[in-house]
Amino acid sequence: MAQYKWFPAVLLALGVACATNPATGRSDFNTMSEADEVALGRQADAQVRQEMGVYDDAAWQAYVNRVGQALAKNSHRPGLPWTFAVIDSPAVNAFALPGGFIYLTRGILPFLRDEAELANVLGHEIAHVTARHGAQAYSKQQAAGLLVGLGRIFAPERYQGLVGVAEGGLGLLFLKYGRDAEREADQFGVGYAAKAGWDPAGMTGMLGTLVRLSEASGSRRGVPNFLSTHPAPEDRIEELRVAVAAAAGPGSRTTNAAEFSRRLDGLVFGDSREQGMVRGRAFVHPVLKFSLEFPEGWQIANSAQQVVAQPQEEAPLAMILQVVADTSRSPEEVARAVMAEAQMQQQSGQNTTINGLRTFVGTYVGEQQVVRAAFIAAGGQTYLLAGMATEAAFNSGQRAFGETIASFRPLSEQEANAIQPDRVDSYTVRSGDTWASIAQNISKDAIGGPSLAVMNGSSPETRPAPGTRIRIVARR
Ligand SMILES: [Zn+2]
Repeated sequence: MAQYKWFPAVLLALGVACATNPATGRSDFNTMSEADEVALGRQADAQVRQEMGVYDDAAWQAYVNRVGQALAKNSHRPGLPWTFAVIDSPAVNAFALPGGFIYLTRGILPFLRDEAELANVLGHEIAHVTARHGAQAYSKQQAAGLLVGLGRIFAPERYQGLVGVAEGGLGLLFLKYGRDAEREADQFGVGYAAKAGWDPAGMTGMLGTLVRLSEASGSRRGVPNFLSTHPAPEDRIEELRVAVAAAAGPGSRTTNAAEFSRRLDGLVFGDSREQGMVRGRAFVHPVLKFSLEFPEGWQIANSAQQVVAQPQEEAPLAMILQVVADTSRSPEEVARAVMAEAQMQQQSGQNTTINGLRTFVGTYVGEQQVVRAAFIAAGGQTYLLAGMATEAAFNSGQRAFGETIASFRPLSEQEANAIQPDRVDSYTVRSGDTWASIAQNISKDAIGGPSLAVMNGSSPETRPAPGTRIRIVARR
């Protein structure tokens, strides 16, 4: 969750034209000129950087940019204003915006074996741009009037699953390209990587890892990952082997495996301090300096816009936490404005304090739900912490909502400084170790055993070999 900011929606007046595709040579129905494409990408890029945040590590940014620029130079559209950035997100993903804006999440990096895999995932995203997949998908989406608007508070689909960034005005990032586009991006990406000197087998390696990872981690609701935003046929890897074999050659062998692993040492894993972290049932935010505790056993998901908690079992209950305003207005005034916009009727409400913080708490009724909402002023931000339920379920959630709201408290400087993120580290396997035991005892459950195996290029059914040096996640 991040600070309160306001983002204007990306609005463009687009003319309709047919253009020849620079990578595929086909004539596309495409409403965008190259200038429009770059302008659209540039606006969305500013939004991505502000809303998702760029990972605060100059060495990683420079490294990814260096690899990316070498690939772009060998692509079908070397003249675009290519930029490459590592986004401060724990999700395992990569994406591209029209015009040449390419992103990797911080979360995908420890799952890449070496620099060849990095180059191939970047090559795949570059290919989405050179083949204008995003521009085409955007044109179609725009034509159908489906562009996702900025996040609406209390949309009923909140109950469907935890909400990821896709809903928050960044819909452009998570356009699905479709089967043919993915195949094309794989093929072109392999070619760019090989031409720039990297081993094209990094593409099959990377995809294999991501498939194993999604199997190992199950469905993590609300976090769009690479395979959900890059849908692919089952036979994708098999098909790719042919392209990899064709692209391979003596000039395309670079992997830089040792250097890549060394760079990973110390990389932030999972939530960062800037986004706040889930620690057991607590959500702590050392930068905004507050903490709270959600009900025992609830699942907590932290995204750029909000924190959402839901009971493990299916129940029409949820809690959300988000920043809704600064503190230039009183909590009561903010409550009135926000709830009016959400079309909720106030049933009761009062000014109070929670752990010394000015708060307005009220109960509201909407079309499909009852909401217990606290508007809490803390450290220059006004937070909305709300429990939501269907009318029938509201009573069963009342106590949990009340206890969670009462647990919101400021953190002292000292408490905030003591909260540190998990980081990638290395460990020498001892005899008797299993992936599960290392995850539990050494990583203190900062990562699960199956994911740890996949991070080390192994399948969860294997055992790590004693004496080998492996990647782990360290929690302090
Ligand atoms: Zn793709």
